Amino acid sequence: MLAVIGWCVVVDVPAQPAPSPDRTGLDAFGTTPDAGQFDRLIEQVERGDLIVSGPQQVRDVVRRLDALRPKNDARRELRLRGFRCDYDDLGQPAAGLAFARAGLADAARLHDVGEQIRFSLCEANYIDGSGRTAQSAATVDAALVLARKHDDPRLLAQTLVHRGSLYSLLGQQAAALTDFLEAQKVYTAAGLRKEAEASLGDIAAAYRRMGDHDKALEYLRQGIAFAEREGDAGLLSVALLQTGYLHEDLRQYEEALAVLRRALDVAAAHGLEYDVAAAHLAMASSLVRKGDFDAAETALTTARAGFERVGDRSNEAMLQLLDGMVLAGRGDHPQALEHYDRAARAFEVDPNLRYQVDLYASRALSHEALGNYRAAMDDLKLERSGRSRLYEDSRTQQSLLLQYQFDTARRDLENARLQAERRSQQQRLKVAERASRWQWAALVSIALLMVILLALFMRQLRSMRRINQLALTDALTGVANRRHVEVAAEQAVANARAQQEPLAVLTFDLDWFKRINDGHGHACGDQVLIRVARACETLLRQNDLLGRMGGEEFIVLLPKTSTDAALMVAERLRDSVHRLDLSDLAEDLNVTISLGLAMLRPQDDGVHDVIDRADAALYRAKEAGRNRVAMEI
Ligand code: GH3
Ligand code: MG
Ligand code: MG
Repeated sequence: MLAVIGWCVVVDVPAQPAPSPDRTGLDAFGTTPDAGQFDRLIEQVERGDLIVSGPQQVRDVVRRLDALRPKNDARRELRLRGFRCDYDDLGQPAAGLAFARAGLADAARLHDVGEQIRFSLCEANYIDGSGRTAQSAATVDAALVLARKHDDPRLLAQTLVHRGSLYSLLGQQAAALTDFLEAQKVYTAAGLRKEAEASLGDIAAAYRRMGDHDKALEYLRQGIAFAEREGDAGLLSVALLQTGYLHEDLRQYEEALAVLRRALDVAAAHGLEYDVAAAHLAMASSLVRKGDFDAAETALTTARAGFERVGDRSNEAMLQLLDGMVLAGRGDHPQALEHYDRAARAFEVDPNLRYQVDLYASRALSHEALGNYRAAMDDLKLERSGRSRLYEDSRTQQSLLLQYQFDTARRDLENARLQAERRSQQQRLKVAERASRWQWAALVSIALLMVILLALFMRQLRSMRRINQLALTDALTGVANRRHVEVAAEQAVANARAQQEPLAVLTFDLDWFKRINDGHGHACGDQVLIRVARACETLLRQNDLLGRMGGEEFIVLLPKTSTDAALMVAERLRDSVHRLDLSDLAEDLNVTISLGLAMLRPQDDGVHDVIDRADAALYRAKEAGRNRVAMEI
């Protein structure tokens, strides 16, 4: 049955027998050595883009490939042998097996992993074709190990399908489905849509064999629809055959025969010899069970001839069983038993419990008819234990599959959950990024606002200070004005009293100032005032305060200053004004001041009392001849 794989390369052939090579597109390739054309031709056949249906066309392609193959190109020589192993009719299974093993040895020598895989699969095919399905499993397993390490998705998927088919034939449907589904994933991931669809039929077969007829039918309908859409006769024929088997399993013999007839038409129209034989065999089975023994016999004869033509021996047990059933149906039980025994021997080499229980049941009937009750009983026991094993197997396979599906579903769920988590994490990150951007924007705006506010505030402060200064300072000289002096003096008196410290007050007046004004002008008088104020200011301490009380009269507050110290300050002021160089303002211009000193007294009402006494002392200094310091009495 695995030989089907070898023939599944049929595409788009009109429903006419034996298309000529030029209709296959083969003439697009030359006949002189050309490595590029060689590779392209193989690729086209592998992809199913080039129509190759039936042994004649395979031979045409092989001839063309041989012509295109550059001589002394060991790899392409091997590739051609690999191709032949897959597609060509190499005669009896033993010949095919020898061909495959020789290729495998050469592939190993050339370290050509792809060809090692191909020849392994081909070897497995011939082992299987010689009726030893179980033995070919090890070969396919080895090929799969290589294929998983080899970078060729199609070859990997082909190997998976191959192993899945083996598992399915051996009754391990869950394992088979696992391989088929993986193959489908590999095909799909590699963009090999047609191959992916083709594996639907394999999946359906596995479901059918494990008794899930609904699932099987669902996949088969998909497969048939796809094959019809694509005009793929090979796929269509296989899917129809499978549908026929399904109806037969369900004992729907009329439906089975109808769909098998369609399969036969499609396969025959496209030269699919194996499928034609398989359709006849399946029809024989339904016909026998319907009691139509003549038609069954004809179908069997045709099937047998067909399988022989393509060198397939994998259906021998089935053929013998059905032969027996036809004979038994006609009442020829001794003959029937002979065929049943042959079938039993064939099943020993290549067991298939599903058909073996049919064999036991049929053989029991023939034994019974011949009066061999003991043998009949033995067969009935075999049948019963076989059926219960089949039932157990299908239960096990179904639960394995459920577990597998559950695992897959759980894995898918887990993947979906991880993906969703990743998405939401990204979302959160994005939101956080946006939030932090907004935060930054907000921070920057706030900072900007603060800077603006601060600038405004500073401007306000400066202007307030200026206004205050204007309010507190004398416009001409820049020293404290009268109002400032009065406030500061009150404060100084309060401080002095609180700390019990002395407070000295000096008042001074420019001598003969009217003369300066008169002699040099009012503007010069102003300059003199400025120069005198500046000269005095430089002599004073930080906490002393110089103020202009009006006109050319000034005051100096000297906190924490004793009488002696205050006298010294007064004398220094007088001296420094006296020695002021005003020659830049006017020639022989000089100025002097007269000062009066008074100290705060405990009995003073306020600062005015001290100022009054200082003024009185100043008056006496004027009286005494000016340019001098006078102390209060
Ligand atoms: P003395 O004080 O020594 O007795 O003589 P004096 O010439 O200074 O006399 P008095 O104090 O009477 O004269 C003050 C003059 O100062 C009167 C006024 O014209 C002048 N004066 C007052 N304020 C200013 C001012 O801001 N600028 C100028 N240039 N002169 C002023
Ligand atoms: Mg005066
Ligand atoms: Mg004066």
